[in-house]
Amino acid sequence: MGSDTGEAPVAPAVAERLRITEIFHSIQGEADAIGWRTVFVRLTGCPLRCVWCDTEYSFHGGQWHAIDDILAEVARHGAHHVCVTGGEPLAQKRCLILLRRLCEAGYEVSLETSGALDVSAVDPRVRKVMDLKAPDSGESARNLWSNLEHLLPHDQVKIVIASRVDYEWARDVVAEHALDRRCMVLFSPVHGAVQPRDLAEWIIADRLPVRFQLQLHKLLWNDAAGH
Ligand code: SF4
Repeated sequence: MGSDTGEAPVAPAVAERLRITEIFHSIQGEADAIGWRTVFVRLTGCPLRCVWCDTEYSFHGGQWHAIDDILAEVARHGAHHVCVTGGEPLAQKRCLILLRRLCEAGYEVSLETSGALDVSAVDPRVRKVMDLKAPDSGESARNLWSNLEHLLPHDQVKIVIASRVDYEWARDVVAEHALDRRCMVLFSPVHGAVQPRDLAEWIIADRLPVRFQLQLHKLLWNDAAGH
């Protein structure tokens, strides 16, 4: 924009900041990129309150970081994969800028999102790992169903399952929306709520076109923050 518009210039250092809970280097514990060395950028804040949430420490606090500084910190770890997570990262609008900048820098970028906020403006190079909230989460009324239209073949839908009721809900949602024809569908048991083997056997019995997953980071580090 030329200076003849009379508009005051926006200072990029102020405009392009995000509130960050942590940036850490670990192994991706779930979804399509499982097992890859990955830098995680955890944005602060979430408008949801899932009963079984395991990242409540990201709801508040955090520190403001310029997007340039976030990119520099990510680069320091020398990993090809970057996962932007939360909280709900899309609750901060400038998350979209961070995602684009990470893609431009050549990373394989994934975004973990609740499914409650609009994903339509996410850079198409980003692999979205989008939750659909089952009833036992307490947040299933927040599912933004129009998001399904914005899923690309490289994206993933993840349903976290805490009970047989959740499982049947998930099974029906997959069938009703033909989710498996849109992208990969992941079913994941809530740690300590449903026996992983039960969930695996339900999937087999019903011949579902979904991928069972356990969270590798919970096995490796028992869910300690920073992993
Ligand atoms: S959307 Fe994610 S971060 Fe937010 S409450 Fe639910 S599980 Fe926790």
